[in-house]
Amino acid sequence: MHESSMAMSILGIVTDEAHRARVGAVQSVCLCLGELAAVEATTLSACFEMLSEGTIADKAKLVIKRIPATGTCLLCEATVRRQDRRMRCHACGTGSIKLATGRELYVESIEVENSLQG
Ligand SMILES: [Zn+2]
Repeated sequence: MHESSMAMSILGIVTDEAHRARVGAVQSVCLCLGELAAVEATTLSACFEMLSEGTIADKAKLVIKRIPATGTCLLCEATVRRQDRRMRCHACGTGSIKLATGRELYVESIEVENSLQG
């Protein structure tokens, strides 16, 4: 499943970071997810929860920030936001849009507790 490999790589990033920073436990993981990223947020959360069991991120909560799709019309350069399911220019009606945001999928921040450093 798509989401489970996504969750796996997120968990990889999180545990790497946590071990590098020598933290005790990861509390939450903030993830930026564009609405066009083709990832089901609830499925992703469920997979993350399952996979993180027994790791340093065992109790970590996955906080997902949805990022709306926006872009620029290639014909008239209007700023376009997604309406319904399609990206379409509201000014000239074309579907030729250069995406600016909406495909994001990255770990924005990781919140940890009781650092073991120092
Ligand atoms: Zn246009």
